[in-house]
Amino acid sequence: MTMRIATTIAEIRAWRAEADRAAGGRAAVGLVPTMGYLHAGHVSLVARARAENARVAASVFVNPAQFNSAEDLARYPRDPERDAALLRDAGCDIVLMPDPAEVYPPGFQTWVDVGPIAAPLEGAHRPGHFRGVATVVLKLFGIFEPARAYFGQKDYQQLAVIRTLVRDLDVPVDVVGCPTVREADGLAMSSRNARLGPDDRRAATVLHRALRAAEAAWAGGERDAGALRARMAAVFAQEPRAAVEYVSVADAATLEELEAVRGPALLSVAAVVGPVRLIDNIVVREPLRA
Ligand code: AMP
Repeated sequence: MTMRIATTIAEIRAWRAEADRAAGGRAAVGLVPTMGYLHAGHVSLVARARAENARVAASVFVNPAQFNSAEDLARYPRDPERDAALLRDAGCDIVLMPDPAEVYPPGFQTWVDVGPIAAPLEGAHRPGHFRGVATVVLKLFGIFEPARAYFGQKDYQQLAVIRTLVRDLDVPVDVVGCPTVREADGLAMSSRNARLGPDDRRAATVLHRALRAAEAAWAGGERDAGALRARMAAVFAQEPRAAVEYVSVADAATLEELEAVRGPALLSVAAVVGPVRLIDNIVVREPLRA
């Protein structure tokens, strides 16, 4: 199977027009936006898109606007050839791999600022991050005009920000959230994991271990959010290689910190392990009763 590699928006528009002609109407396009250095988590999004759409498109773009540190941007891992091979094997029809100047040409001046849902957690620790994410995702929606777009729950707040943006601005795209794909030891797959040395790689499981400890406490009946945060903090305290940034127990819909867990709650953590900053989360919710 062949896959097209596009570097310009014009190529995507031409592909889209061709797909619509072939469909005799609007071709259902599934879009998977990524920053590349792909792993099984990304591939799971492409597989889901493949199952649900006539055409599958992806983007590989390390979006400068969503980085709040020039060093983090410069060190973000890249391997476009391997990415193209993985996307092709997963059944992707076309990938956009643009230069920053294609996405942000001279004179670019319009930004999307999502409100309170973008403020806490990652928003508080990475100023401007979600402004960059929301803007590039809205642009990708305008470029590809997908019927559906696929995002990982690993970036739970990002998914919530995009759902909010789509609702508030009447964007005709179905946003599909997909489960977090993990390594055998529980570490959430991330492009950034490639930069972990062996000791830090072992230590990095602390994020998932902290979340599981809080989840177990919740399953055992603990509903005090402070106590759940303390469970997570205690696990981090045992791992000197990890510098915790936050442990959070928040309302799964609004992302406001909770005092007591009553409905669905987002347990989330961020920590720096060696050279990388990692995030992870688990949602706890009561099973539906008959
Ligand atoms: P990124 O390339 O890190 O910007 O991620 C691109 C998309 O893949 C986002 O929607 C992420 O949430 C999703 N993603 C990243 N890691 C995982 C994972 N381990 N499992 C599922 N989805 C993921």
